[in-house]
Amino acid sequence: MKVIFWGTRGSVPSPGKETVRYGGNTPCVEVRLTDTRLVIFDAGTGLRGLGDALVKRGGSIKAFIAVSHPHWDHIQGFPFFKPAFISGNEITIVGAQTKQITLRQMLASQMDKVFFPVQLNELKAHIRFHSMREETIRVFNGTLTSMFVNHPSFSLGFRLTVAGRSVVYISDNEPFDREVAKSLKNVDKHVVDRYMKQKGDPNQRVFDFARGADILIHDATYTPEEYVNHVGWGHSDYLFTLKVAAEAGVKRLVLFHHEQTRSDDKVEDILRTCLNEIKKRSYRFECIAASEGLELDW
Ligand SMILES: [Zn+2]
Repeated sequence: MKVIFWGTRGSVPSPGKETVRYGGNTPCVEVRLTDTRLVIFDAGTGLRGLGDALVKRGGSIKAFIAVSHPHWDHIQGFPFFKPAFISGNEITIVGAQTKQITLRQMLASQMDKVFFPVQLNELKAHIRFHSMREETIRVFNGTLTSMFVNHPSFSLGFRLTVAGRSVVYISDNEPFDREVAKSLKNVDKHVVDRYMKQKGDPNQRVFDFARGADILIHDATYTPEEYVNHVGWGHSDYLFTLKVAAEAGVKRLVLFHHEQTRSDDKVEDILRTCLNEIKKRSYRFECIAASEGLELDW
């Protein structure tokens, strides 16, 4: 089994010579269980490249696409995912929905004819939708568990477990602070209530969710200095990201959702700082920065 990164950038695609090493596509991570069975975390613009690679390889696929939330950077690749246009492919899209909008509508509305030439109901693949709250479902020979994390409106983190091994994907998440939460109104109340009910550190929910993971892919959008001016935007500074990995006792941490203006050199600065912090604090996990094309054995 392999974990392959097709999009690592947060918020908006950021192509150009400054981002060529870590990549400019928005979130998309493939977990390849076999050549034809895969679980995909998020449908950001990185999904286009994954789709092209799958078509090139040939044969029908069965895929789950786990959508963390419907902000543009997490769904915009879907209309360009070629396997969705080919009959014989089976695609199950899982994610949260609200009273105002279903999961299907979230993806269909960006393909409305005002915005896109092909509509969702014209796609030839067999496409199913399965809405999730906080629960565990069966995917192929493994399980997929979801948890609401702290991000404007709502966002899900996912934990995929297959044959006793786990990968945790938390693309967009901000440290939850009870005082800050009282003054901000940008997260759905049912999500805030879950954190408020947590005894002790409200972020314990996240630590427990990621407990013992072989791979933790987590938001590391900001430096601590930048975070001060972005409270309530729904993202982490890298020191919190390290804390999640340490508290959860994961084996390997992947810094993810790079800030859109961050150059490759600056991503490397952040990684270097993280490695120093890990040494200083005697943390025991491995830490890398997500880059487009990175493949991890899992
Ligand atoms: Zn995002």
